[in-house]
Amino acid sequence: MSKKKKLSLAAQIFIGLFLGIIAGFIFLAAGKAEWAVAYVKPFGTIFLNLIKFIVVPIVLCSIIGGVISMKDIRKVGSIGWKTVVYYLFTTAFAVIIGLIFANLFKGTFQVLQTSDLEYEVAQTTNFMDTLVNIFPSNIIQPLANASMLQVIVIALFFGFGIILAGEKGEPLAKVIVSLSDVSMIIMELILKLSPIGVFCLITPVVAENGAKILGSLAMVLLTAYISYVVHAVVVYSASVKTMAGLSPVKFFKGMAPAMAMAFSSASSVGTLPLNLECAEKLGAKRDIASFVLPLGATINMDGTAIYQGVCAVFIATCFGIDLTLTEMMTIVLTATLASIGTAGVPGSGMIMLAMVLQSVGLPVEGIALVAGVDRIFDMGRTVVNITGDSACAVVVSSLEDRKQEKKKK
Ligand code: ASP
Repeated sequence: MSKKKKLSLAAQIFIGLFLGIIAGFIFLAAGKAEWAVAYVKPFGTIFLNLIKFIVVPIVLCSIIGGVISMKDIRKVGSIGWKTVVYYLFTTAFAVIIGLIFANLFKGTFQVLQTSDLEYEVAQTTNFMDTLVNIFPSNIIQPLANASMLQVIVIALFFGFGIILAGEKGEPLAKVIVSLSDVSMIIMELILKLSPIGVFCLITPVVAENGAKILGSLAMVLLTAYISYVVHAVVVYSASVKTMAGLSPVKFFKGMAPAMAMAFSSASSVGTLPLNLECAEKLGAKRDIASFVLPLGATINMDGTAIYQGVCAVFIATCFGIDLTLTEMMTIVLTATLASIGTAGVPGSGMIMLAMVLQSVGLPVEGIALVAGVDRIFDMGRTVVNITGDSACAVVVSSLEDRKQEKKKK
């Protein structure tokens, strides 16, 4: 075997990321950032497009397949509530960590002199809209638009339908399982391109944003990144260790390829195929991971929640406003809900920030302050988002295992 063949995909992705960052700085230093955007970025986009096209059949088939293989609607329920409880608690915890660090570093944020900021609020959805939007009125549209939450609902209904139909449902079950296997193979082919994809995604980002890291927003970025790291290290290490008996070092090592992918793509949905692979290697059961991860890529956004907490304090400080404890509690609640409504695609966390700011009467125009560096926030928060999903898949798998063992005894 040649030496090159021995290099694992994970190692190749890291090399891609590393070289991409260097290439980005070279474009930046040469003053040719626009070349990176014009000639490198399109290849990154092609790679992401390929992933996006395969993600819908994978999510649809793997969730239906997961439900069918559990053969029991009660089991789906048991996994479902554990997953949702885990997601909600870790997300609330994430906002609290973000708020604590933002308050610690508040002194370094500057009060702003200008008042001519402009930010147009995109259509933010409130909680009730989000709830209504979960349920599709049409079967094709959610698949065509990759509206993940709706795709999940469709998949759950079909899964339950097949179980309840018994023998009559078997032919459809076979087709779904076969489609799922074929989609997985296509996904593996696409994932082989990830080292190049990661390179092409990160190069233009560094070329365009590299200099901004040194700008006046450095302290907020640093605060957010410290909170990301603390949350991941404390919360995920503790949960995989105590609830799944998995060493945190092993966990993060196993997650590294997906984390690199999330960092360069800033998309939970785009990272989903790789995340499924990583979670399974870490011991998550396939039927559980294929239910927990797509759901997580859609509703579980710990990194986004941290970012929203940090930015709320930052924007308040810039406008000379001091948040009260009650206001911070409101932020914990709304950021947790907002992160559920955030789509797992680049930039959506910033749109939902408007909802968080509005909940405590902070000026929404403040978003203009952080909008310029959103991509840098986004890369980090996406890494946390997908790591949280996998931690949950590992934890729920282990809890279900223990439950089975107890039953056997
Ligand atoms: N980009 C993030 C994700 O895909 C969402 C966000 O913008 O916060 O997970």
